[in-house]
Amino acid sequence: MNEELKEEIINFSKSIGIDRIGFASADLFLTLKERLKTQQQLGYDSGFEEPDIDKRTNPELLLPYAKSIISIALSYPSKLKNPPKGVKGNRRGLFCRASWGEDYHTVLNDRLERLQAFIKERVPEAKTASMVDTGALSDRAVAERAGIGWTGKNCMVITHEYGSYVYLGEMITTLAFEPDTPVEDGCGTCNKCVDSCPTGALIQGGQLDSQKCIAFLTQKKDMIPKRYRKKIGNRLYGCDTCQVVCPINKGKGDHYQPEFEPEPEKVKPELLPLLSMSNREFKETYGMMAGSWRGKKPIQRNAVIALGHFKEEAASPKLRDLLQNDPRPVIRGTAAWSLGEISGSENLEALRLAALHEDDDEVQKEIEEALQ
Ligand code: SF4
Ligand code: SF4
Repeated sequence: MNEELKEEIINFSKSIGIDRIGFASADLFLTLKERLKTQQQLGYDSGFEEPDIDKRTNPELLLPYAKSIISIALSYPSKLKNPPKGVKGNRRGLFCRASWGEDYHTVLNDRLERLQAFIKERVPEAKTASMVDTGALSDRAVAERAGIGWTGKNCMVITHEYGSYVYLGEMITTLAFEPDTPVEDGCGTCNKCVDSCPTGALIQGGQLDSQKCIAFLTQKKDMIPKRYRKKIGNRLYGCDTCQVVCPINKGKGDHYQPEFEPEPEKVKPELLPLLSMSNREFKETYGMMAGSWRGKKPIQRNAVIALGHFKEEAASPKLRDLLQNDPRPVIRGTAAWSLGEISGSENLEALRLAALHEDDDEVQKEIEEALQ
C-alpha cells in the first residue's frame, strides 16, 4: 500500500482545486452489475451509456492489472447572480446547473491529467486510465465506493460538504492504495425528490427511468413525446428539480472553481434569438458549455416547446416561419404543437395551410393534432 503517496496525492489534489478525493479498490462492481441488468431489462437506459455491462463493472477490462480507483469531485454553483428576468414578449429558457460555465468534462479532465502527471513523476511505471462521465465506468458507483458521498433517492451522489452539486471523475491505477470508507446513506425517510419529479422518472429505491427523465428528454434529437412537453416548460437543457428540492442541498453551491462561473445571459438566454442562430453563432456562443454537446437542433426544439409552454404570442410569426420553411421535421413538428398551444386565427390558418403541403408523416400528424 502506498500510504505516503496517498497523502501526497491528497495534498496535491487540494492545490489544483479538486474539492474531494477518495480511494477505492478496483474490484468488480457486482451490485451495480445486477442493477444495470435490471435497468436494461426494464428499458430504463438513456441510450447514451456504454452498452457492454462487463466494461461498466470490471475496471480490469479498462486497465489491465488495475488495483485501485481514485475518485475526484469538483463542486459547482447552484445560484445565478443577478439572473435576467423573462417577461411576456421576451421569454427566456434555462440551462441546468451542470451546464453552467465551462464544460465540466474539459475542467475535470484537466485536473485528472495533472493528477496523473503528479503520480507518474513519483512512480514512472504506474499505469492509469481516467474518465469523466462518458467513460465506461459509473462515476457514481466509484464515488460511492471511494467515500465521496452516498447515492440519494434522486440518483445523484450527495456529499456532506457540497450536497449533490458535484461533478465526478475517476482514474483507474495499477497502484494499490488503502481504500476509504463509504459514506452512510443520509436520505432517511425523506422522499422529496421522488415526490417532486415532474415526470415520475424517479422510481422508489434510487432507480431512474431515463426515458421519462427531463434531463435525458431535452438531449434527444427527435420529437419529444407530447405528454412531456408541458412538463419540460422552459428547460433548454437538463433539469434540476430533484436537486433543488433536496434539503441537503440547501445553502450549498457557493464554492466552485472559477471555470464554472455562469454567464447569466448564456445560461438563461432569450428564446426568440435562439431560433434564428446560425450554426456558427451557436458554436461561438454555446460551444464551451456542456449543454451544447448535442448541437443546435435539440436546444432550438426545446426553445420552441418553451414558447408553446408560455403561450407566447410574440413568437407566433417566427413559429409560423419555422412551420412553413424549416428543413428539419423535428422543428416543423414542434412548431406545429407550439402554434396549437398559442392558438389564434392566424396561427390556425398557418397550420391549415401547412397541412396541405407537409410531406413528413410525423409532422402532418402534429399539425392535425394541433388543429384539434
Ligand atoms: Fe425528475 Fe428532473 Fe430529476 Fe429527471 S432530473 S429525475 S425529470 S426531477
Ligand atoms: Fe435524499 Fe430527500 Fe435529497 Fe431525495 S430529496 S436525495 S430523498 S435527502
